[in-house]
Amino acid sequence: MSESLATVSYIGATILFILCLGGLSNAETSRRGNLYGMIGMTVAMLATIFGPHVTSAGLSWIVVAVVVGASVGLYLARTVQMTQMPELVAFMHSMVGLAAMLVGFANYIDPASGMMQGAERTIHETEIYIGILIGAVTLSGSVIAFGKLSARIGGKPVLLPGRHWLNLAALLVVLYFGYVFLNAESSQGMAALLVMTVIALLFGVHMVMAIGGADMPVVVSMLNSYSGWAAAATGFMLSNDLLIVTGALVGSSGAILSYIMCRAMNRNFISVIAGGFGTGSGAPAAGAGGAGGTTQPAGEVVAVSAAETAELLREAKNVIIVPGYGMAVAQAQHTVYEITKLLREKGVNVRFGIHPVAGRMPGHMNVLLAEAKVPYDIVFEMDELNEDFADTDIAMVIGANDIVNPAAQEDPTSPIAGMPVLEVWKARTSIVMKRSMASGYAGVDNPLFYKDNNRMLFGDAKKMLDEVQTALRA
Ligand code: NDP
Repeated sequence: MSESLATVSYIGATILFILCLGGLSNAETSRRGNLYGMIGMTVAMLATIFGPHVTSAGLSWIVVAVVVGASVGLYLARTVQMTQMPELVAFMHSMVGLAAMLVGFANYIDPASGMMQGAERTIHETEIYIGILIGAVTLSGSVIAFGKLSARIGGKPVLLPGRHWLNLAALLVVLYFGYVFLNAESSQGMAALLVMTVIALLFGVHMVMAIGGADMPVVVSMLNSYSGWAAAATGFMLSNDLLIVTGALVGSSGAILSYIMCRAMNRNFISVIAGGFGTGSGAPAAGAGGAGGTTQPAGEVVAVSAAETAELLREAKNVIIVPGYGMAVAQAQHTVYEITKLLREKGVNVRFGIHPVAGRMPGHMNVLLAEAKVPYDIVFEMDELNEDFADTDIAMVIGANDIVNPAAQEDPTSPIAGMPVLEVWKARTSIVMKRSMASGYAGVDNPLFYKDNNRMLFGDAKKMLDEVQTALRA
């Protein structure tokens, strides 16, 4: 493939990636967006593999790498459970970070790099240093995020004494070794590069460990952004324009997503990154353990059966369903839609209320509801229907907890104080479907359960909804 054809293909791929992002911004166009992304990536790969920079000797290596990578990717995509998606995404971010690191080191030991002189060499080495730095932070940060999202590591923030000073010291050391690296003779800079890599890896671990339960969504989107910048840095190192543009697109869209997440959580971005929120200087939940820790009862709850729930639903005119992480765990989305259809046939106005951080990844609930073919026009964002709860007969909470916790509004000492929530307790009756009194991801007790107009339907969401459906059909 000639240089010009490769360039044209790169421009085409870039346009497709931009169209992809545009499509992904709306649930109705997201399938099309995905398709653009897939075509763009195929074009990009073909143009790179058959482009002018790949020799025939290199081609066989690439084919082996593509076969291995594609097989692993295909296997993971086919076997991953919907509830494991967030961890998979975190794992993929770590791979981007690792790739950026390895490319950086490979570039540094490449004999061609050693022959560069003057400004060209300084620029190239700066690219290498920054690329490895971002790659290492992304790698270790994503590995910790993977651990936290898969509950292999506790959700509670680990706050080292003087952590901000530690971060500042790490930054100064990285800057110093950057200076040493840039002024080292030919390949003598390896020691400086290695020291910086270790510090960057430790920084990534420290940064994500310090971030508490309910602030994890911001970390996930932030690492997404980092992985983009790591890819862009790799693009600079390899002088590959497409990688620079693609990395910048991922980096900036991830940064915008982080900003949106912060706004949704009513958090200050810098404060989240610095850690400390979600740590709760106030009273912790009784027995709060984070990520599903159990709590001691802090009041009386009224339990209902599936048949009673069906009866309440049958009598309702307006119903708002609030899905959360538990719906994903139980894979209850299809039954939820069956019940929705039954109620709508009876003339009940059923709508869905989606919290921006419901579940374990941005858009988690929208994906599940789309999979179950719930029409988009009855799915609303939190802000669109929070005011409607007062006119709602039944607010049905399915496996959600933190996102419907009134403590966020009522208790200024709560670790989630200030986070906007779906005000389900304002409905005439709220029904919470979950298996026990365990806390949600943030590990805080939920006063909603003890409100007079709240009912608890205990059990696995899928099983309970099946019973509700049977009772509704009877
Ligand atoms: P939560 O984690 O707060 O609560 C989920 C509830 O579902 C649990 O209390 C659990 O209670 C219940 N549950 C679990 N399995 C089942 C089941 N099989 N059947 C019925 N219920 C079940 O989820 P929310 O969606 O309310 O809130 C999301 C939380 O996750 C927020 O704190 C958010 O910050 C955080 N987060 C969000 C991310 C994102 O990007 N969206 C990323 C990382 C974290 P029980 O065990 O009693 O059944």
